[in-house]
Amino acid sequence: MTSTAPHKKSKALNPNSRRPAKELCSECGLCDTYYIHYVKSACAFITQHISELEEQTHGRARDLDNPDDCYFGVHEEMLGARKQQPIEGAQWTGIVSSIACKMLEKGLVEGVVCVQNTAEDRFQPLPVIATTAEEVLAARVNKPTLSPNLSVLEQVEKSGMKRLLVIGVGCQIQALRSVEKQLGLEKLYVLGTPCVDNVTRAGLQKFLDTTSKSPDTVVHYEFMQDFKVHFKHEDGSIEKVPFFGLKTNKLKDVFAPSCMTCFDYVNSLADLVVGYMGAPFGWQWIVVRNETGREMLELVKDQLDTQPVMSKGDRKGAVQNSIPAYDKGVTLPMWAAKLMGVVIEKVGPQGLEYARFSIDSHFTRNYLYVKRNYPEKLASHVPVYAQKIVSQYKLPD
Ligand code: FAD
Ligand code: SF4
Ligand code: SF4
Repeated sequence: MTSTAPHKKSKALNPNSRRPAKELCSECGLCDTYYIHYVKSACAFITQHISELEEQTHGRARDLDNPDDCYFGVHEEMLGARKQQPIEGAQWTGIVSSIACKMLEKGLVEGVVCVQNTAEDRFQPLPVIATTAEEVLAARVNKPTLSPNLSVLEQVEKSGMKRLLVIGVGCQIQALRSVEKQLGLEKLYVLGTPCVDNVTRAGLQKFLDTTSKSPDTVVHYEFMQDFKVHFKHEDGSIEKVPFFGLKTNKLKDVFAPSCMTCFDYVNSLADLVVGYMGAPFGWQWIVVRNETGREMLELVKDQLDTQPVMSKGDRKGAVQNSIPAYDKGVTLPMWAAKLMGVVIEKVGPQGLEYARFSIDSHFTRNYLYVKRNYPEKLASHVPVYAQKIVSQYKLPD
């Protein structure tokens, strides 16, 4: 295993410009390496060029006249899946870790960029290049904080590895694709997860302290398709808090500015995406974007139960109503939040419609944030597909 270490060769322009995206930096790690040289064209927050990178990666940009393409990105197939034998301690059933282990076992790659946690703190990310299944499994479960995954890139080149799997979220993968040709690899595989509302480690603590009854014992949490946050505690118990009961007035500033300006929720540039939000409750959601992604999924197909994607309900009224409520930081009393959660769970959006609900809610919020805080970036930073999605709603000024 290779863990992060200070990069002696990194060429900082000067100490003040080590994070050229300044407060919008998502700490993707690129600027900890000598690839900082490419930051102006590679950083997701300086140059948004998703369409161009989609063409480079998948052979075409997304078709905006195809509604599924517009929402979920270029894809050959989407499906619901879960491991027949889930990996204990994984975020969901461990499909991501299983694919990575299989790729090492079969010799398809020599290393896997993934993120473990430090010995002192289960939520403090520690990016590594794993070379054994044990090291991949030690990286299972989300570290729900900004993570400098690309900080290990320099070590890939030094190690002489030619075949690599990178696991990561959208902003990391946009920077990775931008420098891909500079890495000297024979083959790069990219396994992505969707990502939204990420936080710094301090922001995470504020979220846990504000939302959970026992913040110190949380080992894992997820914003679930039943409109509740599920916190798993050390003793195995699950605490559920309805989305509508979240203290939005206190949490408004908790998300990192990078994530308030992010429009790559679905990880457009990965070969294969593994999330949950487009699948029925309890299932993972798989998006096969290209042939490389299919090759990766095929490796574990015999370990999975699968089902076709489904879509039910109509999200639009709920999204439109949530826009002013979020904007004003409205928090419902817990009894009303629970009631609303029950109603929405019964009649609300499910499957792909739930994913559209989540994309619409976040894109409208983020569009307003960019418009108010970085008006000069609005036209170039918001991708055309996101502009189209946002234009379905009436927004406050
Ligand atoms: P596991 O087998 O447990 O593996 C998890 C993998 O995630 C590990 O390989 C690890 O290297 C990697 N990882 C952990 N933390 C990070 C990090 N901070 N940055 C980059 N990589 C990391 N899915 C949705 O459908 N909707 C969402 O809104 C959503 N938000 C997410 C937010 C974050 C910050 C992350 C990391 C993931 C999010 N996901 C989301 C994906 C989802 O939570 C699961 O990670 C995914 O379904 C894989 O589950 P698994 O059991 O197969 O993963
Ligand atoms: Fe550098 Fe990444 Fe931060 Fe952009 S997001 S400034 S590429 S570390
Ligand atoms: Fe990166 Fe976007 Fe996730 Fe924030 S929400 S960590 S910017 S992919």
